[in-house]
Formats: sequence, C-alpha cells, structure tokens
Amino acid sequence: MRRLALLAAVLAATLAAAASAQDERLPDPAHAAAVFLARDVGSRPAASRAELRAHRWVARRFERAGLTTRYVGFGVPRLGRSRDVVGVRRGRRRCLKVVMAHADSVDDGPGANDNASGVGVLVALAGRLDAIRPPCDVWLVATGAEERPYTGAADHLGALALVRELRRRRVARRLRYALSLDMVGRGRRFQLRSPRARPRRGVEREVLAAGRRRGVPLRWLRDSATGNSDHREVELAGLSGLVLQVWEGGDACYHRACDGWRRLEPEALARVQGIAESVLRRR
Ligand SMILES: [Zn+2]
Repeated sequence: MRRLALLAAVLAATLAAAASAQDERLPDPAHAAAVFLARDVGSRPAASRAELRAHRWVARRFERAGLTTRYVGFGVPRLGRSRDVVGVRRGRRRCLKVVMAHADSVDDGPGANDNASGVGVLVALAGRLDAIRPPCDVWLVATGAEERPYTGAADHLGALALVRELRRRRVARRLRYALSLDMVGRGRRFQLRSPRARPRRGVEREVLAAGRRRGVPLRWLRDSATGNSDHREVELAGLSGLVLQVWEGGDACYHRACDGWRRLEPEALARVQGIAESVLRRR
C-alpha cells in the first residue's frame, strides 16, 4: 500500500513537471503564429486563397493588439490580386520605422522558414509595442507576392505597393528604414544584407548594435546585386532598406516541400524578435 502511495506521488510530481514545462513554452507567440501559418494555412502562393487567409489572420492579430490596420491592395499580373497588411502604431516623434515580412510562399512548400518565421515575429511584435513604447511611428507590414519565382515579376510586388503607400501617406521622408525579416526561424546567428557599399549610421549599424546588445551574433554583408527580399524596392526608391535572415542565407529546404513547421526553432524566433524590439526602442 505504501509503495502504491509512493508511486502515485511520483506520478503526480511528473505530471506537474510536464505541465510547468508546457507553461514555459506558452508565452511564445512568434513560434505559435509561424506554426499556424506553415502547418494550418500551408502553402500561400501570391494571389491565392491561402495567402488571403494568412493576411486576414495577421490583420485580426494586429487589430487585437490595438494597431490601426489596413489593407493595401495591388494586382499580380496573370494571377489576380494580392495585398499588404499594414498595422500602424503612432509614436511621439516625427520618425517612422517599418518592419516587414512576406506572408506568401512558393507553391512547392509550406514556407515555414521562408517566411512564416518573419510573419510570426511581426505578429509577436504587435503584441509588444505598448510595452516597448517606440518613440517613432511603427508600421508592421505583412507583404504579399514577394516570391518572384512564383509571380514571375521583376519586382517584389508587395514591397512596390508599400513604397507607393509610404509616398501617398507622405511619410516616406520621415522613414528611418524598412527592415525585412525573411527566413529568421533557424539558427543562433544571423546576417543583415543591403545593397550599399558599407553599413550606414542609423541603419545597418543600428541593427548591428541591437544584435550586440542582445548577445546575438549578427554580421552585415553587401547584397550580391539589388537584393532578394522586400528591402530591394525600398532601396530602389531611394529610401533605406535592409533584410535580416539566417546565417549565409542558407536553408537546405529553401523553396522546397520540406520547409515545414517542425523545422522552426522557437529560440531563433526569440533572438530575432529581441533584435527587432531593441531597434524599435531607439529613435
Ligand atoms: Zn522569403
């Protein structure tokens, strides 16, 4: 009888430990959001119903976080319509920082690292802005139609629409930079890329400094050409843009069916979220 009681006590302790381990994993909205997009929505090619579903879901999350949220629609030649979802939080100063991530994927895979990961961080950031109280205005932007291998377009179309929207709202001149989060779901170290000859003060150097503050290894590399993420169109428009991505931009499952949600690493997303929060605290 005594052995039975002992067994019951051990069992209870084990269950309690398992429950608390689960609790520790709960405050992880970036990972939960990325898993939802890659596993439950799945492949999200430009102008598809799945891309629209992903965008609507992100818009609801932005609204729930108190952001002024709007859709910026645009056409995708031969495929239909896509959009950017823009969540805005006003700051105290006349400056603006954009953090963006493309919500679409290629049609061959569920796009977990590329780029449910970046959108997951965006959604998590939305819920953190009131605590961070960024001095600048912040636009969180889930872009559409980024994947040029799928759209066949010369440009990242969501980023083009974003540049038009920045101009239309007359805020382009106060933009410090637009930071694209693209493939940020894996690894301990990351890289920044931009098409400039060297890191600029207040742009690349600011993000590199945030990496140092957060203890996350981060290096800058010049883009091989005009760039392969949404920062490209921002730079081509004469504004400042850069992309944060996995080390060496490498992923064996890049644009393949194996880019699934199980490969997403919560710690990697947390590192990138930490860097983004740190840059948003600065003016
Ligand atoms: Zn991508």
